[in-house]
Amino acid sequence: MEKISIVIPCFNEEEILPFLYKELSDVIENMKKVCFEIIFVDDGSTDKTLEYIKYISKKDNYIKFLSFSRNFGQESAILAGLKFATGDYVCYMDADLQDPTCLIKDMYSILKNNSCDIVIAKRNRKGENILIRILSILFYKIFNKFTELEIEQNERNFRMFSKKVNDSILSFNEYNRYIKGIFNYIGFNKSYIEYDYIKRKKGKTKYGFKGLIKYAYSSFISWSLFPLRVPYYLSILFLILTLILFNNKMINYSYIICLFTSIEFLCIGILGSYISKMILETKKRPLYIVKEDNFDKK
Ligand code: UDP
Ligand code: MG
Repeated sequence: MEKISIVIPCFNEEEILPFLYKELSDVIENMKKVCFEIIFVDDGSTDKTLEYIKYISKKDNYIKFLSFSRNFGQESAILAGLKFATGDYVCYMDADLQDPTCLIKDMYSILKNNSCDIVIAKRNRKGENILIRILSILFYKIFNKFTELEIEQNERNFRMFSKKVNDSILSFNEYNRYIKGIFNYIGFNKSYIEYDYIKRKKGKTKYGFKGLIKYAYSSFISWSLFPLRVPYYLSILFLILTLILFNNKMINYSYIICLFTSIEFLCIGILGSYISKMILETKKRPLYIVKEDNFDKK
């Protein structure tokens, strides 16, 4: 019998977990020809998330969990879940039920029948916050232009893939992880499955506006080296400007000096961003620390 592992990162999701558990139980009930392993990764929750996961893991043998010593972030939680997954197929999704669980069955059928290796869910953003929508469109446009990758607009962190793909994902040891980028980089045959935007049923998003901008910036510089070339372009531009303005008595040079200084600091800032990321890469600190799990008991 084939096995599907479903990895779910959870950070303070106590309100939604009973609903998620019910929906996943229905999916499992409907797919009798495969067996399941559901891996909840508690990313240092401070509410009753872990307590609830432990409770259901006692009821159902297919429920496994890992609990981090503190909050390490969604990317680390997904990575940990993928490392522990033992299925022939692996799927990961958010806990918030913004991705329809009924697609799990469709994803599995596509993988089995269409000889593809990865099925990615794509969400139509109609109904989502307009500012987040615009920023997200902009992000993917800029990302695709200045990296060698081509991530489709609206790709979700909800996907199912073969064990081989999972092994490839796990072969990336980088500290600054952006898993959508890794998926695009590794190749393989991909299929897409679309659905309409669904509101979070319970609980709140874990990313404020500031968090999203930070995540976008860090994901961008982990795949694009373009910002490092910006100082070259600027130096040419300013050389031309200097030649044009040279000897022009009408110009207020104090403004020009201020402008040049701020541009110089911007370039130093860009270099600083890359150097700080490099420091983290060389230190090879663990991306997460597991405090507790139930893998040996199952
Ligand atoms: N998450 C996590 N660690 C974090 C932040 C989020 O494990 O530090 C999980 C969260 O519990 C959820 C998923 O990542 O299962 C996506 O989070 P959320 O729904 O808040 O993001 P959004 O859909 O608003 O982008
Ligand atoms: Mg969400």
